[in-house]
Amino acid sequence: MNKVYTAEILGVGTELLLGNIVNTDARDISVMLSELGINVYWHSVVGDNPERLTESVEIAKKRADIIITTGGLGPTCDDLTKVVLARAFGLGLEFNEEAAERMRQHFAVLNKPMTENNLQQAYLPEGCTVFQNLWGTAPGCAFRAEGCIVLMLPGPPRECNAMFRHCAMPYLRSLSDETIVSHNIRIFGMGESSVEFKLRDMMNEMSNPTLAPYAKEGECMLRVTAKAHNEAEAERMMEPVIEKVRGVLGSVIYGIDSESLEETVFGLMRDRGVTLAVAESCTGGFMAKRITDMAGASKVFLGGATVYSDASKASLLGIDRALIAEKGAVSEEVAREMATKVREKLGADIGIGITGVAGPDTDGRHEVGEVYIALADKDGVYCRLFTLGKTRERVRLAAANNAFDLIRRRLTGLPMDN
Ligand code: ATP
Ligand code: MG
Repeated sequence: MNKVYTAEILGVGTELLLGNIVNTDARDISVMLSELGINVYWHSVVGDNPERLTESVEIAKKRADIIITTGGLGPTCDDLTKVVLARAFGLGLEFNEEAAERMRQHFAVLNKPMTENNLQQAYLPEGCTVFQNLWGTAPGCAFRAEGCIVLMLPGPPRECNAMFRHCAMPYLRSLSDETIVSHNIRIFGMGESSVEFKLRDMMNEMSNPTLAPYAKEGECMLRVTAKAHNEAEAERMMEPVIEKVRGVLGSVIYGIDSESLEETVFGLMRDRGVTLAVAESCTGGFMAKRITDMAGASKVFLGGATVYSDASKASLLGIDRALIAEKGAVSEEVAREMATKVREKLGADIGIGITGVAGPDTDGRHEVGEVYIALADKDGVYCRLFTLGKTRERVRLAAANNAFDLIRRRLTGLPMDN
């Protein structure tokens, strides 16, 4: 796009105001708008009330280039978005035969009678671009007036999401002769502030492509975005930026456009034909859960044991009770044994052992957040003590993340201590 557009997402629905439903439509649309390089400056919500909706539209008109409404397109009398928006822009409503026909067919397929008020949904602002609803009944639409681009989408999230991706995004793209492409550089083991500190000068000097850091749960991400006349040109512009970032950050980058750390690790293991077994204490099976969330996990993951008590560490894995009594369940020695024994018992290439204090109580010997993670493979056992924070949830998440990262480092020949 020649110009950077700003957008406001205006949710229409009293249910949203009452807290009966969460405004997930605004969240989902925002994510998709960022793919287009459109800045979302405002999310607003208004009830099914014509005066207040008009007032919200008047405000949005002044401050945003693109107004996107969600909800209130249906057949009932509280569905007033189209009427109010058309009036606010001085447009009449026009009957759209195609939308009406789709509705008739929709009801015919369901073998239900169509009441007259359903046809109200087929009245759309004159001259608009119609977004036929292939996922429900109420059509959406887009029009340009008074220097604004207005889009209206139905409320039900499934319809709203699909219509935005398949109708609204192509519409918005067609308004510009430029393409926006971006890549996400995924980082584990370095915080957002350190990443920003190392790259600050570079980021400040850039305007196209741009480079922006985002904090993610327990990790961070850099998004590189380029604007160009076509995709190939945008890719060419981003290549040297990604290379430079790699040079500065090195091994903490675990992937470009990967979904997650476990997805990267899963891909590495699958490609190399490496199998995994895990023995988890304080993570309670979280690692196993995350790896088995992925389709095809059985190619890689042989199994795991949640060995929460001392007794289960001994009985399920065969760890010497005397060792546990002497060193404590949270110890380097026990973590090493967990990794070694689960690897042996399941015949895996890599065995992981995790034992630590997730809190809030301590074991009397360690602080909350101290976790030993061991990795056993044919070359021996690596083990390290991590200090991972103070809340139970965070400790468990970070422990599993670090375990995945150790596997990644081992498989790609990177130093195990970053
Ligand atoms: P319908 O044809 O289903 O009536 P509509 O466009 O009129 O669609 P609404 O009546 O406003 O939409 O909302 C229908 C349902 O969609 C709501 O009950 C709610 O479950 C969901 N919904 C509406 N707005 C949102 C939103 N902003 N985020 C998430 N869900 C929403
Ligand atoms: Mg409705």
